[in-house]
Amino acid sequence: MAGADCLFCGIVDGSIPSQTIDSDEHTVAFMDINPATPGHALVVPRGHSADLLEISAEDLTATTLAAQRLSRRMKDVLGADGINLINACGATAWQTVFHFHIHVVPRYQDDPLKLPWVPEAGDPDEIAAIAARLRGENG
Ligand code: 5GP
Ligand code: ZN
Repeated sequence: MAGADCLFCGIVDGSIPSQTIDSDEHTVAFMDINPATPGHALVVPRGHSADLLEISAEDLTATTLAAQRLSRRMKDVLGADGINLINACGATAWQTVFHFHIHVVPRYQDDPLKLPWVPEAGDPDEIAAIAARLRGENG
């Protein structure tokens, strides 16, 4: 899905209104309409790609650098105490808009956000077995 069918392509080309806050040759940043915290924004590449698996190295680099630039600005201008960069890749991982984007979520000491998992020690054998698979080892 790209061009006329894609919400974020519409924001990039200006046919869909947004509160744009930063842009460069490769990227546009704008405010999320459902902010998790005050200042929550999204950074997207101007070129359409559906997700992390599809995006080119050049667009991924530019989008990541734009997210870093915006993070610094949120610290300076909004007084953010921290930042979360979040990317959802695939519907199972919570992606709802299929044009690659990085959420830039400013964090404040008293904000209500919680880690979405409970850290618990894993089984070392299972961790090692999965690590071996990811390294491409047989077994
Ligand atoms: P995802 O769920 O794919 O990780 O993130 C999509 C984000 O886009 C959501 O946080 C949602 O609030 C935001 N969003 C959805 N529709 C619009 C819109 O029309 N304008 C803006 N600015 N953000 C949107
Ligand atoms: Zn798009």
